[in-house]
Amino acid sequence: MSDCLFCKIAQGKIPARIVHQDEDTVAFEDIEPQAPFHVLVIPRQHVATLNDLGREHDGVMGKLLRVAATLAREKGYAEKGWRAVVNTNREGGQLVLHVHLHVLGGRQMGWPPG
Ligand code: 5GP
Ligand code: ZN
Repeated sequence: MSDCLFCKIAQGKIPARIVHQDEDTVAFEDIEPQAPFHVLVIPRQHVATLNDLGREHDGVMGKLLRVAATLAREKGYAEKGWRAVVNTNREGGQLVLHVHLHVLGGRQMGWPPG
């Protein structure tokens, strides 16, 4: 989608600290980290929110989780623990309308989330 910030990051049109990319996904550091480790994993294909998922997205959504787990493991958080979050729409706290998995680690997480 031409006017989407995360599509532009995926296409390399806006710079980001990319930590992983493959044919389906891109992962990059969050510009305003909420934990010592905070990256966003996105599908290259534009999907606005989890509400917009169809069966055709099953594969890439699974891959987002596997990329997240790989990155968390590489950083040493697998055993200690880490968190994956997807905010959806306004009340869910979603500001960027391109599905993204927040991957956070390096501090004790609270529950319930704010
Ligand atoms: P949301 O609130 O939509 O779940 O999360 C959007 C996230 O994107 C926020 O954590 C915010 O800090 C991050 N973000 C917003 N703009 C940019 C940007 O231009 N570059 C990067 N790397 N992260 C961004
Ligand atoms: Zn997009």
